[in-house]
Amino acid sequence: MRKIEKEVKKLLDDNYVSRPPVPVDRIAESLGAIISFEPFEGKDDLSGILYRDGKNKIIGINSAHTQTRQRFSIAHEIGHLTLHNKELFVDKVVRVNFRDNKSSLAADREEIEANTFAAELLMPKSFINAEIDRLLKKQQSFDKDDLIDHLSRAFHVSPQAMEYRLINLGILISN
Ligand SMILES: [Zn+2]
Repeated sequence: MRKIEKEVKKLLDDNYVSRPPVPVDRIAESLGAIISFEPFEGKDDLSGILYRDGKNKIIGINSAHTQTRQRFSIAHEIGHLTLHNKELFVDKVVRVNFRDNKSSLAADREEIEANTFAAELLMPKSFINAEIDRLLKKQQSFDKDDLIDHLSRAFHVSPQAMEYRLINLGILISN
């Protein structure tokens, strides 16, 4: 997964992004993609689409979803755009219970990579560490819920996505 970290760092540097929230729509546009927000009526579980041909790159995002969900979907499609070559990706919401090891996670390698990319892009490790340092200077201790609440607002992601990221980074211990 080192490759994904490097790709994300380059994108952040190229776009002069050094603090949260990461402007995923501006980053997508910097790659030549056009984002189209549509309600995808009758297809509630559809979160995002990436289509590209020789000269067009179009990301379709389900505008009926929450803002944080839409941001994750954009970041996921940027992952496909950066890492993969297929012409069309159609992405559905995957409901995952992170505490249940038996849950069916993203099935194939490209989906796992795009999700990893999205988490890296929306919640870069160095940004999280800087934010926690800032918080620690203001108050000496905080509980887990305060931390997740504060960080998910700062990064404009869902509390669930932030909790999962903090566990992955070893900052929170899964219980
Ligand atoms: Zn995907």
